[in-house]
Amino acid sequence: IRIDGVPMLDEEGSYKGILFLLQDISAIRRLENMRSEFVANVSHELKTPIAAVKGFAETLLGGGVTDEKTARSFLQIIYDESERLNRLISDILDLSKIESKRIPMDNSPVHLTSFFTSVMETITTMADKKGISLQTDIPDELFIEADEDKLKQIFLNLLSNAINYTQEGGQVKVIVRHLEHDHGEDRIQFTVSDTGLGIPKKDLPRIFERFYRVDKARSRGSGGTGLGLSIVKHLVDLHKGQLSVDSELNIGSTFTVELPLLQEHEG
Ligand code: ADP
Repeated sequence: IRIDGVPMLDEEGSYKGILFLLQDISAIRRLENMRSEFVANVSHELKTPIAAVKGFAETLLGGGVTDEKTARSFLQIIYDESERLNRLISDILDLSKIESKRIPMDNSPVHLTSFFTSVMETITTMADKKGISLQTDIPDELFIEADEDKLKQIFLNLLSNAINYTQEGGQVKVIVRHLEHDHGEDRIQFTVSDTGLGIPKKDLPRIFERFYRVDKARSRGSGGTGLGLSIVKHLVDLHKGQLSVDSELNIGSTFTVELPLLQEHEG
């Protein structure tokens, strides 16, 4: 609580009393804390790849590395870390745009079969590299009203995680179902499941937080930023949908997204 006192004077300027202003600023304070924590996290996340780029470049410039193979492997690290920086910055920008609500919704009917054909095309090279099979089970002629670009980002993030955190030769599957309701609204349920590493029960409630990673080394190795799922959560919220996860260690994970079939319109 913040208390401000203002002296009150009458027309002649003589003292009448004090006006006290009591303000509950805990919400503001909390927001400020969250913001500074975010800035601290961002700085830390950016510093790590920059330190690697700088360190390996310095070593190369120092001229101590004479064999070509080592030199190339250092260059590869510099390249990979620059890519990571790129991804981090674009994720951070996306997230801050979404969080500040400066991002308008652009809804239109999306044909789900064609939509997932295009999503799967985008992700297939990544899956092929690990020999992971991609499957879809989507009813014909099903449409949803949604912002297609945002919908695409939701599923690209979930699918790239599924591929990243699944061993070679595993399976990743997308299932779409129309949940019909006699009362209330119809919804579409999407599940993205993998036969991967899984997530320990204790970490499940936290994985949608910014920069939260179950295993930092594992995520860094896969080039993760720790922001993918918090972006997904926000994009699902923007569609007034729900996001949940179910996972079994060493068996696999299933992410479920439920969205209203139609977006509510004002008026
Ligand atoms: P990252 O960029 O690290 O993948 P995300 O926000 O997308 O960040 O995910 C947060 C963490 O949740 C990941 O670091 C990983 O530990 C865990 N995770 C996400 N998806 C999966 C999955 N399909 N299987 C196992 N773990 C996952």
